Amino acid sequence: MPADYHTHTPLCRHAEGEPEAFIEAAVKAGLTEYGISDHAPQIPEPFDDWRMTEAELPEYFRWIERARAHAAGRIPVRAGLECDWLAGCEPWIARLASRYDWDYLIGSVHYLGDWDFDNPKWLGRWAASDVDAVWTHYWETYAKMADSGIFDILAHPDLVKKFAHVPAGDLDRFYEPVIDAIAAAGSVIEINSAGWHKPCGEAYPTPRFLELACSAGVGLVISSDAHAPGEVARDFPRAISIAKAAGYRETVLFEKRQRRTEPLI
Ligand code: ZN
Ligand code: FE
Ligand code: FE
Ligand code: ZN
Repeated sequence: MPADYHTHTPLCRHAEGEPEAFIEAAVKAGLTEYGISDHAPQIPEPFDDWRMTEAELPEYFRWIERARAHAAGRIPVRAGLECDWLAGCEPWIARLASRYDWDYLIGSVHYLGDWDFDNPKWLGRWAASDVDAVWTHYWETYAKMADSGIFDILAHPDLVKKFAHVPAGDLDRFYEPVIDAIAAAGSVIEINSAGWHKPCGEAYPTPRFLELACSAGVGLVISSDAHAPGEVARDFPRAISIAKAAGYRETVLFEKRQRRTEPLI
């Protein structure tokens, strides 16, 4: 089994479970490595209600240390953050990057302007939106995040489909420019298996995006985005099979923001 680097902790206020339980789940699943990447603090605070505050960072570091102590000798535990890409966020991300000896930083687009479009609270806003326009805005934003080159891993590439809002026609027009940007920046993408459990009913990204990304030489990790111990490594065999079908033969491992690869098995 590959590593699972995209997982959460209760500090984000919408996840549950003790570090020991997450580690037991990771060991039981046979993962090569386990990574913790909770939603990063964001300024100005309070920013929203689904992340830790900056003052809670030390508690996050203790949570990671507890996980490491419990895992000792059984599975490497990597430390990361899932950071939000927002216009002008680079200095803030640089500050977060300096706060701990991170193994990787994940970048996510959850916000289009002031709208966290993947939050079920704001489904009404989706109903009032033009899907094509939202997709255009989303992928432009994602390409800017890729261009920044400040993240090791770019999360759930087509999260914009979460509630099954998908434009008509050939979607390569959205995928191609962003894959060029990701390949140029040298960031890695993830298959995020949580999508199978959302209204879209499909992992992020869609198989076609994976195929294009693989052809462009973009590296891959496989992630559960677990918000509870029972979700660690969820659907990994299925994710591995779509990765292989797209042409992938290896996944990327991160340690202190350096990479190596392991065969995809
Ligand atoms: Zn979350
Ligand atoms: Fe996310
Ligand atoms: Fe996440
Ligand atoms: Zn996520």
